[in-house]
Amino acid sequence: MCSIVSHHKHLLLLGGTLEARRIAAHLATLPGLSVTLSLAGRTRTPIDNGVATRIGGFGGVAGLVAWLGAHDIDAIIVATHPFAAQMAHNACEAARRTGLPIVRINRPGWQRAPGDRWIECDTTEQAVTLLGAIPRRVLLTFGREQAASFETAPMHHYVIRSIDPIDPPLALPHVDNLIARGPFTLDAERRLLREKAIDVLVTKHSGGEATRPKLEAARELGIEVIMMRRPAMPNIPVVEGLDDAGMTRLVEWVSAL
Ligand code: NAP
Repeated sequence: MCSIVSHHKHLLLLGGTLEARRIAAHLATLPGLSVTLSLAGRTRTPIDNGVATRIGGFGGVAGLVAWLGAHDIDAIIVATHPFAAQMAHNACEAARRTGLPIVRINRPGWQRAPGDRWIECDTTEQAVTLLGAIPRRVLLTFGREQAASFETAPMHHYVIRSIDPIDPPLALPHVDNLIARGPFTLDAERRLLREKAIDVLVTKHSGGEATRPKLEAARELGIEVIMMRRPAMPNIPVVEGLDDAGMTRLVEWVSAL
């Protein structure tokens, strides 16, 4: 893998994903580079990535532009979650204003397979409507902000799986909260769906391997999936996926800076 970088460069890596952690670890091995990983600060116990890390929002595009200048940043890598559209759009606009190179890592989406019972929607409100009026047993894999939309449909029984506790608790009469951080195995997902007698799964189309087993388990058990489509992303250069080839392409991009 090419690793020639001519002048010292300081990169901003917008993270909050497994991909960002892998990029941080990999770029740390290259000479002539320093990387600052940026996290939004959503999870209470972020994983230690072993690289320089800053936590918290920048204060919109203007704040980000100021931060880039103050830290002599040479380029931006957007490795945020496929649903973190605001951050990606802000980074794109900040790159336009400053003239800095920018690249986004796209996590490949999941492919629908025979037996899948997916119904797609664009918003949590649409997902709530799709649950219908008859009480169902729902597995929600959302954090508090998005799960709050389901307070308008209190007739269902919810199992809500999130990384941090849902605090304050949702105003819903029937909720089991599961605190867990992926990856999850197919066996564990199968067991969860069966034990909780889930009849519908509501999830974002996050893609990636770490959370795919729930979809395989739902397929096996014939469980309906309400799948939220991804938001639109800005039109900037993209590295598709972070397999070995993707990492090589990213390193080539960095080396050409
Ligand atoms: P978002 O809607 O795109 O961003 C909202 C605001 O949060 C941004 O405008 C920015 O605040 C701040 N922010 C987001 N990502 C940041 C980062 N990496 N570093 C510094 N500030 C950041 O993002 P989100 O959906 O709230 O997601 C927040 C973080 O959680 C992201 O890093 C994302 O990768 C991770 N994540 C998100 C999801 C999801 O489903 N959305 C799932 C797993 C992980 P300012 O405008 O003040 O700069």
